[in-house]
Amino acid sequence: MPEPPTPVPEVRTHCPYCALQCGTVLRGDADVGVKVSPADFPVNRGRLCQKGWSAADVLHTADRLTRPLVRGTDGRLAPASWDTALDTVARGLRTLRERHGPDALAVLGGGGLTNEKAYLLGKFARLALGTGQIDYNGRFCMSAAAAAGNAAFGLDRGLPFPVTDLREADTVLLAGANVAETMPPLMQHLDRARLVVVDPRRTPTAERAALHLQPVPGTDLALALGLLHIAVAEDLVDRDYVRTRTHGFDAVARRTDDWWPERVEEITGVPARAQRRAVRMLAEARGAYVLTGRGAEQHSNGTDTVAAFIDLALALGLPGRRGSGYGCLTGQGNGQGGREHGQKADQLPGYRSLTDPAARAHVARVWGVAPDTLPGPGRSAYELLDALGRDGGPRALLVFGSNPAVSAPHAAHVTERLAALDLLVVADFVPSETARMADVVLPVTQWAEEEGTLTSLEGRVLRRRALLPPPPEVRSDLRVLHDLAVRLGEPADRYPTAPREVFDELRAASRGGRADYSGITYDRLDAGETLHWPCPDTPGDPHPGTPRLFLDRFAHPDGRARFADVDHRGPAEETGPAFPLYATTGRVLAHYQSGAQTRRVGELTDAVPEPFVEVHPDTAARCGLADRALARVVSARGGMTARVRTDATMRLDTVFVPFHFPGDGRANLFTHPALDPRCGMPEFKVCAVRLAPLSGVTP
Ligand code: SF4
Repeated sequence: MPEPPTPVPEVRTHCPYCALQCGTVLRGDADVGVKVSPADFPVNRGRLCQKGWSAADVLHTADRLTRPLVRGTDGRLAPASWDTALDTVARGLRTLRERHGPDALAVLGGGGLTNEKAYLLGKFARLALGTGQIDYNGRFCMSAAAAAGNAAFGLDRGLPFPVTDLREADTVLLAGANVAETMPPLMQHLDRARLVVVDPRRTPTAERAALHLQPVPGTDLALALGLLHIAVAEDLVDRDYVRTRTHGFDAVARRTDDWWPERVEEITGVPARAQRRAVRMLAEARGAYVLTGRGAEQHSNGTDTVAAFIDLALALGLPGRRGSGYGCLTGQGNGQGGREHGQKADQLPGYRSLTDPAARAHVARVWGVAPDTLPGPGRSAYELLDALGRDGGPRALLVFGSNPAVSAPHAAHVTERLAALDLLVVADFVPSETARMADVVLPVTQWAEEEGTLTSLEGRVLRRRALLPPPPEVRSDLRVLHDLAVRLGEPADRYPTAPREVFDELRAASRGGRADYSGITYDRLDAGETLHWPCPDTPGDPHPGTPRLFLDRFAHPDGRARFADVDHRGPAEETGPAFPLYATTGRVLAHYQSGAQTRRVGELTDAVPEPFVEVHPDTAARCGLADRALARVVSARGGMTARVRTDATMRLDTVFVPFHFPGDGRANLFTHPALDPRCGMPEFKVCAVRLAPLSGVTP
C-alpha cells in the first residue's frame, strides 16, 4: 500500500498589512512554499488585494534577517551570537542610563506590532528601562482621529460599528480616504451607497463616487465647516438628536455662520453647489456615514479637521444609530490595538491615561510596582526623533516594527538625528533603511511565524496564527524583550515570552479601562467567537463583546457626545514664488507604508517599481517636464527624485508623491514636520514645493 500523502499544513489567520485585517488561509511549509488564499471572513468575504495575495513572498525574501548583527570597529554590521548582541545592547543601555539618566533611553514602537508585543514593549520601556520616552509610528497615522474621537464621544475606536454595517448606508462621505487603493475588499461594502469623496486627487475611489469634492490641499477644515453651515442654513439638522444626545451645538452653529458656501468655495475651490449637494445627499439618506482617512487627518490642524467632520455627523444625527455613523478608517495592521496597550507616550494599557492617578494605580498593581515609579508622559513620535542625540534628549533608541528613516517627516533631518545616537538598536525581520543604520540589529519573527492577536479597524480582536517555525536564529520580539529585561536586572517572570500569557496579563491590565479586553481569551477567539472591545470579564455569563458602540449613550459620563468649536487655519506652509505647488503624499495599491515589506515582493515592485510624481500635464509642461521624465520635487527642506506621471485629473496647483520608497526617492525628504498641537500628528499631507527637471536643480 502506498503511504497516504502527508496533509499540507494549513492555518486560518489574517493579512500582515492593513487594518482591514482580511481573513486568510495559509497553506504549505518551508519546503513546498506558502500559498495565501482569502478566507470567507466578514470584512473581505473571499477577496484580497494584491498585497494580501502576495504576502507570502516576504517570508522567503532573499535578504531576510536570520542572524543578529553588531556593528564592529570597522564600521560594518557583522553576524554575532544572540548573547553577544544582547550583551552589547544591555551594556550600552546601562552605561547611558548611568551617565545621562533613564530618559536618555528611548523606544519607538509600531502600529503593526501584535497587541502582545505593543503591551510588553510599553511595560519594558517603563519598568526595565525606566524611561517615559516611548512612542510609536501610529502617532503618524491615527493620533488626530483618536484625539477628536475621544473628545467627541469619550472613546476612540476607529469604526464603532462592524465594517459590514456600511452595506446599510445610502450615502457615505469619505474624507481623505482612498479605499479603492488602500483597502480594496472594503469597497464591496460600499457598493450600494452613493459615495461623496473629498480628495484633492481624482483617486480610484473618487472615480467611483457620485460626487467628488476636490479641495485645495490643506483646506479640508474649511470645507467641513462649510458643509455644517449648509446643514444649519438649510434646516437639515436633526434637532431632536442634537437636543437629547449632544452638548455644544449652539456655539458651533454660531461659528459656522461665517462659513457660507461661496466663501468656502473661494478657499477650497469646491463649488458651492457641490457643497450643497453633498450635504443634501447625507441628510436625505436613510442611512449615512461620515468616514475620515489620513488625507483629512495628517495635517497640523488634523484633530480640528476630524472634529469638524464629526460635528457635521452629529448635526445630522448619525453617530450612535444603527446603519449610520462616523468612523476613522485606521491604516496600519494593528493601528487600533497598537494605540490601546501602552506604547503611546501618554498611555497605559486599556487606553488609560498616564496622568490619571487611578489608571497608574491599577496598572502599577498589575505590574507589581509602586504607581509613582511609572515614568512619563514622554515626547510624541516626531518630537522624540527630533530630540535624539541632543543635549537632554535620548542617547539610545530601540526600534520595534518601524522604519522612521523613510516614514518620518523631514526624513533627512530624522536620519541625521538617528546618526547622532550613541546606540541605535533595531528589531526587524528585513534590513529596513533604519536597520541599516543600527549599531545592533535583532532578527525577529514575522506574521506567519508567530502567534498573537491584533485588533482590526472595527475594534474586533483577531488571532494571528503561525504556519511556519521561524528560521533557527530568529527570536520573537517577546523573547527579545524578556532577554534584554533580564540583562537589565528585571525579574524574569515579569516578561513572559508566551503570547497567550502576555495576553492574559494585558487583559488584567486593561480591566475597567476604556479598551477593556478582560473578557476576551485565546480560547474564546479560537472557538470562533466574534469579539469586539469593550468586552469586560463577566464570570459565569461571558460578555458578548460590543460590535456597536454608542447606540444608547456615548462614553462621556453624561452619555452625550460633544460638539467641538473649531475654526479653520491654513497649513503650516503656503505656496509662493519659490515653491508654487502644493505637494501631497499617500499610498498606492501595490505598496504598504515605508515599503520595507512590499518592496521585497517581485509582483508588487513590478507593478510600481519606483517613486513617481503625479502632475497635471499643463503643470508639467510649465515646469519643462514631459511624461516619464525624471524630476526633482523640492521644498524648503530638501528634495527627492521621481518619475513624472502626467494625469489630466490632477489639480493644476498640486502634485502627488507616494511615500513608499527609500533613499533619494523618499517623499518625506520634502514633507513638513509641523505638528498638530493637540496630538503631535505631522503635516504629511500638504507643503509647498517646486517641480523641475532632474538636471540643473539645486536641492
Ligand atoms: Fe491585506 Fe489590507 Fe489588502 Fe486586506 S486590504 S489583503 S488586509 S492589505
